[in-house]
Amino acid sequence: MARIVMKFGGTSMAGSERIRRVAQIVRSQADAGHEVAVVVSAMAGETDRLVNFCREANPLYDPAEYDVVVASGEQVTSGLLALTLQALGAKARSWLGWQMPIHTDKAYAKARIGNIDAEALIASMQSGEIAVIPGFQGLSDENRITTLGRGGSDTSAVAIAAAVKADRCDIYTDVDGVYTTDPRIVARARKLKAVTYEEMLELASVGAKVLQTRSVGLAMKEGVKVQVLSSFTDENAPNADSIPGTMIVSDEELEKMELENEIVERQLITGIAHDKNEAKLTLTRVPDLPGAVSNIFAPLADAAINVDMIIQNVGRDKGETDVTFTVPQADLVRCTSILENAREKIGFNRLISDTKVAKISVVGVGMKSHAGVASTMFTSLADRKINIQAISTSEIKVSVLIDEDETELAVRVLHTAYGLDAE
Ligand code: ADP
Ligand code: ASP
Ligand code: MG
Repeated sequence: MARIVMKFGGTSMAGSERIRRVAQIVRSQADAGHEVAVVVSAMAGETDRLVNFCREANPLYDPAEYDVVVASGEQVTSGLLALTLQALGAKARSWLGWQMPIHTDKAYAKARIGNIDAEALIASMQSGEIAVIPGFQGLSDENRITTLGRGGSDTSAVAIAAAVKADRCDIYTDVDGVYTTDPRIVARARKLKAVTYEEMLELASVGAKVLQTRSVGLAMKEGVKVQVLSSFTDENAPNADSIPGTMIVSDEELEKMELENEIVERQLITGIAHDKNEAKLTLTRVPDLPGAVSNIFAPLADAAINVDMIIQNVGRDKGETDVTFTVPQADLVRCTSILENAREKIGFNRLISDTKVAKISVVGVGMKSHAGVASTMFTSLADRKINIQAISTSEIKVSVLIDEDETELAVRVLHTAYGLDAE
């Protein structure tokens, strides 16, 4: 017998029929003798709908009220799943974020989980009751509801798994594991049997939305065993206990699996991700002087705007230079207005923004000890006449910024170039 946290995403919860399938999967784990807590997302599309209502009500919405609105999607599905489980004859109840409670900071719309009072939850699970928990939501110390940022139910699930010391956290979604790249873009993407926390963290942070970045960081920190698998299965599908999905594991665990021949030798590149949610900004004719760059980025940091790629061109004759960088598209309006307000202090000429860009990244721990990964990327893209607008690297990642229209082509070309295509 194990203690398991199961999480179901939006497509898994989209409508009565899907929820019935989820209830069957949950029930089969409870029937196998496990103690079960379930974390659910809102129905697919529901959070987008609610976000739009907020924007229509007030474009400069108060994030605390936004949270009141957008947290409601998960309240509906948690109640519906508890009802459906009861209809199947199982004992189940819902636990809203404030009822446990799941404590968070007060960064409304992107709150971070602090601690979770899980005692009552554990007692209920031990009594054989299935706990159904709405993902995405928590409670601030101002006693107001918070949400954890888009895709946050993954993080709720991992945090609850850590709080109840679960043996496993199974993340059910609409694909049956983590692939070498988004299987919706590359039909020949390969499913990975296991991927390390470090690589998954990097893949998630550069756009592989199968897991929210924070959920992976938390799982790594707390040592939570995470499995990604599909809820779109029939009754004869293998049970989650046989690990049919992708396990997120430590480096040591992966090495052990390799030694035991459970997985074939690792490739240099583990995966490729794309992100169409970045915007590129260029400030022209910035003075080429000490402090100039700081005048640009300090106010953005103060506004908690995350700057990713940065390029400063070589200074021109007149002691001026252009500075180009990327920010999340969602922050573009705020970013532009901050820079316009600081125009005099920074002393730039023009501010040019471009949202028709995409960031393509290749990730793999193998590149720590291998040269040539970046050059393969640049050559393969050049062969297809794909122009690179910016580059950034980390120890296990190379990212390039390209025209958004070339996203799919670039991902496919690189997938082939690194030998990742399935037979
Ligand atoms: P959920 O609603 O269950 O949280 P998401 O839409 O957030 O699901 O994440 C699942 C989606 O992630 C898949 O449908 C797939 O298109 C996308 N995805 C992107 N990169 C990958 C990858 N490397 N492996 C698997 N899925 C990926
Ligand atoms: N419903 C939320 C969202 O769409 C949280 C989640 O599904 O993980 O972002
Ligand atoms: Mg998700």
